[in-house]
Amino acid sequence: MTSLISDIDKHVRASGCNHTHQFAQVWAAQNGIDWRDMLDALEQNCMFCDCEIVANLETDQLEFIESAVAVEAANRWLSPSLKAADDSMITRWIVAKEGLGKNNYAQDGEWLIPAPWGATPRKRVRKTVHFFIGAQSGMPTEVGFVAEIEPQSTAQIVERIAASSVTELSPFDTRVVWFVQQKIARLAVSSAVGTDLREVVGVSGKRRELNIYRVIVRG
Ligand SMILES: [Zn+2]
Repeated sequence: MTSLISDIDKHVRASGCNHTHQFAQVWAAQNGIDWRDMLDALEQNCMFCDCEIVANLETDQLEFIESAVAVEAANRWLSPSLKAADDSMITRWIVAKEGLGKNNYAQDGEWLIPAPWGATPRKRVRKTVHFFIGAQSGMPTEVGFVAEIEPQSTAQIVERIAASSVTELSPFDTRVVWFVQQKIARLAVSSAVGTDLREVVGVSGKRRELNIYRVIVRG
């Protein structure tokens, strides 16, 4: 991967900046990076065109952008790096429940997957809340429930989700399975959970990270 900064610097010196991200976008395409992810990362750091990217060369912000972009391209779910706990069969997952009212559109008993970064909900959910996606219907849902499932391996779960017709979930990987297992391991069956992409402050700057947390559903 050629350096983002030196590449854009070369182009801006040669042809100037028209105050768009035209050179950054070409660089992203050449380096296999999702442009929407990269644009989000750039704009969050107030780099609204190619010359602003070059101008930030000396700052710490830049390191953050480069690492954030690399992580997001390889890890659509922003799941923290985790090792598999063990090879045992998976016996629980998060499923949808009907009758929860608005912002919950998945079908009763349908498996739920936290939405990956940047996924657009197919129906309206609250803007401030991240959501799950139904693995069959593709519909967004804010609240899921821990349920027992027929025991299966991590590989079987990945295969099942990857084979679903819900395109938002096609890059699904083992890390998401491990992450979900770790987060629901200590919760009782029928516990209600939500998901978010929480902001975490690390050594190289702020980043977002997948989270699954217990919620209380009022009856
Ligand atoms: Zn510019």
